Amino acid sequence: MSTGIRSYWKNYIAGKWVDASNGGRLPVTDPATGQTICEVARGTTEDIDAAVAAARACFASRALQLMPPHERGALMFRIADELEKAADEIALVECRDNGKTLKNGHGEIPLTRRYLRYYGGLADKLEGRQIPLGDGMLDYTVLAPYGVSAQIVPWNGPLPVGARSIACALVTGNTVVLKSPEDSPLSLFLFAEACERAGVPAGAVNIVCGIGSEAGAALVAHDDIDHIVFTGSVETGKSVLRAAAERVVPCVMELGGKSGGIVFPDADLDQVAESAAAGIFKHAGQICSAGSRLIVHRSVYDDVVARLVAKAKALDVGPGIEGHTMGPLISAQQLERVIALCRFGVEEGATLATGGDRVAGLDGYFMTPTVFADVRPDMRIAQDEFFGPVVVVIPFDTTDEAIEIANGTDYGLAAGLYTRDLSTAHVVADRLVAGQVYVNQWWAGGVETPFGGMKRSGYGREKGQEALLGYVQTKNVGIRL
Ligand code: NAD
Repeated sequence: MSTGIRSYWKNYIAGKWVDASNGGRLPVTDPATGQTICEVARGTTEDIDAAVAAARACFASRALQLMPPHERGALMFRIADELEKAADEIALVECRDNGKTLKNGHGEIPLTRRYLRYYGGLADKLEGRQIPLGDGMLDYTVLAPYGVSAQIVPWNGPLPVGARSIACALVTGNTVVLKSPEDSPLSLFLFAEACERAGVPAGAVNIVCGIGSEAGAALVAHDDIDHIVFTGSVETGKSVLRAAAERVVPCVMELGGKSGGIVFPDADLDQVAESAAAGIFKHAGQICSAGSRLIVHRSVYDDVVARLVAKAKALDVGPGIEGHTMGPLISAQQLERVIALCRFGVEEGATLATGGDRVAGLDGYFMTPTVFADVRPDMRIAQDEFFGPVVVVIPFDTTDEAIEIANGTDYGLAAGLYTRDLSTAHVVADRLVAGQVYVNQWWAGGVETPFGGMKRSGYGREKGQEALLGYVQTKNVGIRL
């Protein structure tokens, strides 16, 4: 069966489309069928060397810095326009190599364009300060680019995650080498094509697909990079940080999460069910900030569990390309891991209210939407990130207890609460240890709002104006006149 996908994709280095240095290729699998749909060049250490050299040469040429900031901004607008022309192909590849639903696949394009336009619009609004030092002195700060920004993105949202980091880097005058995820590399190749058509200088953006432990490790350990942006798991993040520490390279780290939403007894339970189900079942739970724990007041506990179970059962799981409402997990290995964790949850004494196994009769890596009830906060299923469509529901009696449970994991990416009481909302939001707190709507916020982790979920911020500050370093110029 034709998938409508090009059969082979090359890496984009120094403004050229190139095979791997040794001719190697990687198969790309459709998680909805388990079948290989195409191949991509398997980036090597030599390819990473070439990409870093191209990014360094472009930075040294000052091609971007010589552009007035508003022109760098206009470049982002042109990339956004070029991306739109490839919208149908992008939606297709997001379904095929990533397992997204058609709706989500299409949704990636306006989202990515908004990032490009947002940072394009900020390009000429990044300003330093003038610091008064007294008579005869002039002092000012300059926000200088780092140089070559090495970027590693995860498979679950490569296009918007990659595009927003690249946009931040380019508008601040950095150049980029991005190692795209081996599980779902295709949309970033289409992004590179959009950059090429938009007139991004050769070498400013280099996209190399490769295995994490090969091309990824070679990139973050490279002698000639100046900055790292890593989005992925905590374990991989630690190894990236060890490599960065060797050469004291600054990092933005966006890591995993086990985010909890607290449901107070006065909450609108229709709203809770809608928001909490979307928060865990969108993209089959494979979102770092998924609401994977729900902490529910005992007086409404049974009601909330019943509503969540109904939402889970109403989902139509199947290949996203056919319009189903929940797609597959990314790989057989991830499916096995999620099922094993579910089995462990049952052994630990939690009640499997629905789901917990693969979807029978489908070839791909489909997991049933899963709800666990009677969960204790210390259970492994309440502590470990599943990265799958599994929500654990934990009861509480007092507000202090709810906050303790919400804050009681190693992670601190997102947290939420549902209440009609304004004071409760503000007081509890203040006490939750998380980079973002959602009140009455999971994922309230978006392109304009800073996003990142506390505790093991990382540091630095993506999205919003704050993100740009992660791509510049302050230089102070002090002058005796
Ligand atoms: P992962 O850590 O396995 O891989 C992430 C990226 O790192 C991939 O491109 C991979 O090839 C690369 N990589 C692997 N080993 C490497 C190494 N030794 N050196 C350098 N790079 C290496 O994560 P994943 O499975 O792709 O994504 C899921 C994880 O990402 C989850 O934990 C999720 O929470 C997290 N995530 C976080 C955010 C965020 O913004 N905080 C967003 C999306 C995903």
